[in-house]
Amino acid sequence: MKKIISFIHTYRNKEQEQTVYPIREMISVLVQLTDEQWGGYAFYHEPLERKFDAEARKHYIAEANTCGRKEAGVLKAELEQYGILALIKKHGFNMEFPDMPNGGGHVIFAQFTEPDKITVFRDCTKKAAALIQNEHLEGLLKGKDLEKILLAHEFFHAMEYQKRESIYTMTETIELLKRPFSNRSRIVALSEMAAMAFAKELLDLPYSPYVLDVLLIYGYNKKAASALYEEMLEAAGIKERKNADNDD
Ligand SMILES: [Zn+2]
Repeated sequence: MKKIISFIHTYRNKEQEQTVYPIREMISVLVQLTDEQWGGYAFYHEPLERKFDAEARKHYIAEANTCGRKEAGVLKAELEQYGILALIKKHGFNMEFPDMPNGGGHVIFAQFTEPDKITVFRDCTKKAAALIQNEHLEGLLKGKDLEKILLAHEFFHAMEYQKRESIYTMTETIELLKRPFSNRSRIVALSEMAAMAFAKELLDLPYSPYVLDVLLIYGYNKKAASALYEEMLEAAGIKERKNADNDD
């Protein structure tokens, strides 16, 4: 069966009571978060999150980031020679740039479809480009090309699929059941963290591509982007966790 890994987001339910933050404020805070803080966010979306204590999470965050950076390091010379589009082609992958994803009630930015197809949905990058211009965010984002960032992220997933027998993010598993039954599972958050670290290193970004989660969603739904921003701050340890206590 074909598997698809996407840059995908579904909105939180409690939208009505959501504060909307100015995009400039959110981006200026998010570009300063460290890879460790983003690791906390990645684990928010990890289905097996309860399996890991703080020390284990710290270990996995470091390993996943190292994996992504290492994969990018090997390709940097080639990138300079070919540019990202030709580099991706050279490694055997195809790219498509349709405007919108086909159907669904969520926003998809980009995806990798096994075995060799990378898709970037231009509707979201066009909306974000307009936002960057209107809100004068070029300086904060250092003028980096959003489409290239999305391509680089999916390029990692493509390389990861090619190297699935050996690469850390695919081979590292945890035991879900006690003996005598064994059921080992992959840790999805590792792939995401490594893909972000890969894009960051490959394109020399001074911030994590996780920032794009808020930027790209803002063009569709400001409340959803603001809710996600709050979640990022909680995960980064900057803001108290909402569901931990009564809301005030
Ligand atoms: Zn991904």
